[in-house]
Amino acid sequence: MTGSTNEQETTTDRGASSRSVSPYRAGLGAKCPSCGEGKLFENGLSVRQQCDVCGFDLSAADPGDGAQVFVILIMGALTALMGFIVVGALHWPLWAVALSLFVFIMAGSIWMLRVFKALLIALQFHHDAREGALGGEDE
Ligand SMILES: [Zn+2]
Repeated sequence: MTGSTNEQETTTDRGASSRSVSPYRAGLGAKCPSCGEGKLFENGLSVRQQCDVCGFDLSAADPGDGAQVFVILIMGALTALMGFIVVGALHWPLWAVALSLFVFIMAGSIWMLRVFKALLIALQFHHDAREGALGGEDE
């Protein structure tokens, strides 16, 4: 009961229509953080300048190196586990190990980079995260 009241307060507090889209749904689907329908990426991993559906300005989206850190750590652990399995348990020939791990790393990293980058951008917009400013003299 109190959880739903809290949620209502925060959504009315925020006011902006961009807050109605779940950042997790938009992020996991690589969709626009404002409308949740337009595509976030063009040409693989490049973030669009603006949303095709709602015209939301995406040029300020900057996840930095955050997504890469998650992908390196997760894919490193998964690749090591997969390496142990195919070498130790399945006894695959070396060429098959190299080929399978290469394909796994490339496909997994690109897919995971899209997901994490989109998720970080969606969370950035959802929480109004931006660079800090001293005293507000700039604006
Ligand atoms: Zn949009």
